[in-house]
Amino acid sequence: MTSQPSTDRRDFVLATALGAAASIALSSDHAAAQTAAAKLPGGTVYTGNIVDGKPVVSTLGVADLEPGKIHRLYFRGVEGASGQPWLVSVAVLRGANPGKRVTLVSGVHGDEMSSIHAVQTIISGLDPAAMSGTVMAVFDVSRPAIESMNRRWPSSGRGADLIDLNRVWPGDENAASAPARHAGLVFNRLIRPNSDYVLDFHTSATGIDVADFHLAKMDVPEIKAMAELFPISQIFDNPGYPGLLTDALFQVGIPSFTPEIGNARRLDLSMIPRFVEGTMNVLRLHGIIESPTGRTGRDTGIFVANNLLPVVATSGGIVEHLVKLTTAVRTGQKIAIQRNMFGEIVAEYTSPVDGQIGGLRSDATSEPGNVLAFILFNRTAPGGVETYPE
Ligand SMILES: [Zn+2]
Repeated sequence: MTSQPSTDRRDFVLATALGAAASIALSSDHAAAQTAAAKLPGGTVYTGNIVDGKPVVSTLGVADLEPGKIHRLYFRGVEGASGQPWLVSVAVLRGANPGKRVTLVSGVHGDEMSSIHAVQTIISGLDPAAMSGTVMAVFDVSRPAIESMNRRWPSSGRGADLIDLNRVWPGDENAASAPARHAGLVFNRLIRPNSDYVLDFHTSATGIDVADFHLAKMDVPEIKAMAELFPISQIFDNPGYPGLLTDALFQVGIPSFTPEIGNARRLDLSMIPRFVEGTMNVLRLHGIIESPTGRTGRDTGIFVANNLLPVVATSGGIVEHLVKLTTAVRTGQKIAIQRNMFGEIVAEYTSPVDGQIGGLRSDATSEPGNVLAFILFNRTAPGGVETYPE
């Protein structure tokens, strides 16, 4: 079957035939449905459903798709409480010639719109007929979080939980949690089998602005080679920790890292092009496209730091930043003041290290305990943080 978006008669007939088989199988269990539906040699399983002209798959093998074309489809994720599946939007640009497979992921957090826009922009600049290899774009991994512009996935498991999907990878198809099952399906049946390299695009979380930066394991040569190809401001060189998509992929031998495109909720149209330019460089590095290299981190004097320190509010009140993103700061330098409702100064905040401002709280008010700033810096002693502004 062709996977081209189409409502022609051939697709309609196939959809009808497979629909009958799939509906019987789904009443038993998901594994049986996989068998009952049409499994292609490369592993692709079409559920038989067509949504808005786009076929639905429950497993994808990009080798099954026709070369030299773009294929838009939906990946069937976990079901919500209504019984409807969460469909994930996927575009596959299968090059005319064989080659490496690079996957661009976005929408793991539901309030990070620049990540989705960047991936859309990247693929709009590609011509599969002129490519050697495959680019797979995944746009909306956490659909239910996106619906409400929230970072986390609303799960009804124990009343109302909010689950951070970027803490549960690689997921588990049999987990006692729908979001973790969803992650397991996406990891096992979509991303892992179709990727040689993965870029998982994010932005900061709601409430904090960040510069244009990456989270990347710079001690891994294949990751370093890709990360340095972006004309951006900063790289936070960090090994990551279990639960991150990039870490789960690294554990199974797929080099990956996390580009971070500014603030949450809005589109940062001035920052997105730098990430588009860098990603095109990555595709050139892997021989997928051929054209002159664009600007890289060398052109922007990229600041690479192996540590990140949060400056935390000690009081409640209105915060006034005295520095900007990417400002270089010295130990003891005053970076923010905080006033109560009379305008009296209740706290002053200084940088505890020499470094560069990587993130700043975007809301003017703060309670005690909130992060007011992230400072990127270098130190040789082992150490690190487990809270990222990603
Ligand atoms: Zn994120």
